Amino acid sequence: MNEKTIFYTPATGYPDLEAKIAYGLARVGIEAFESEKVLIKPLSGYYAVKIDGNRDKLNKAFNFLCKRILRSGYIFSSTPGIKGKAIKALVVKEKEYTLEQYVSLKSLLENKKSEAICRHESKELVGAILGLAAETSYHRSRNKIDIQGTGRPTNPKRLCKSCALLATLGTWYASFIFNIAKKEVMVIPTPKNEIRGEDIEKIFSIQHMLRKEYIKSDIPSNLIPLIFLSEIPSATSILWNFDLFVALYFSPGNRGYHIENISLIPIENYLGFLEDPYNVATVDEMKVRGAFKALQELNKIIGCVSR
Ligand SMILES: [Zn+2]
Repeated sequence: MNEKTIFYTPATGYPDLEAKIAYGLARVGIEAFESEKVLIKPLSGYYAVKIDGNRDKLNKAFNFLCKRILRSGYIFSSTPGIKGKAIKALVVKEKEYTLEQYVSLKSLLENKKSEAICRHESKELVGAILGLAAETSYHRSRNKIDIQGTGRPTNPKRLCKSCALLATLGTWYASFIFNIAKKEVMVIPTPKNEIRGEDIEKIFSIQHMLRKEYIKSDIPSNLIPLIFLSEIPSATSILWNFDLFVALYFSPGNRGYHIENISLIPIENYLGFLEDPYNVATVDEMKVRGAFKALQELNKIIGCVSR
């Protein structure tokens, strides 16, 4: 029988969290079936994840992945923005989790103060989710409406455990995490067009190129996209269908995290520029020489070219 499943991300208003949950759902689909059976479709501010296969097998694959990967605190403590007590709350317990809440789309209404940001009804909510949704450190709410009218965030932000687990699976499947000086950088490719399972697998396969990367100089944050993409020149062809969400995490004195910078960046101009291997070599050379002023100028020029 040819069953189809469509999951929807919860439309939280946080672009990084939405993409991570979509990647988590896609990861489950690829685990249960194969990458050709999985498709991510961007809708306005959220995603549909279409999988050729039945829900029963998907639920089983979700639990299997959670138990295999997320039963210890290791992955969580390696995720920028997650620390201390939050890790304990996130670790997978001996119980079954379900994907049923992703089958229907939540209405795009304002969040009530007591609700989880995903609006899923769950007894198990987790807080301290800076590592899953960087903008929870700022004032922001669904559809950018200030619900309380006070200009203050609707804190404390909480998320249901299934969303947190999916977002963590997604983070470690299709995002890039590396260090620049004392900061941790998370780069999440966010889909602008339909993305096939095979494309996500390709991103997964190039992650390792940056995983251990440690850029010592404290480069200006606006140079991160150029530097990042020049580090993975062979992989840039995969990224034409994506924007980049870049979040800079800093943990002063190794205590709590705060976010230094967040940006959502269209990257066509960079990809076009880096198609030429001479340009990649030039950026490399400037990087090695620490010629950041010149790189800033170059960065401006690339940004201005219309394509
Ligand atoms: Zn949820």
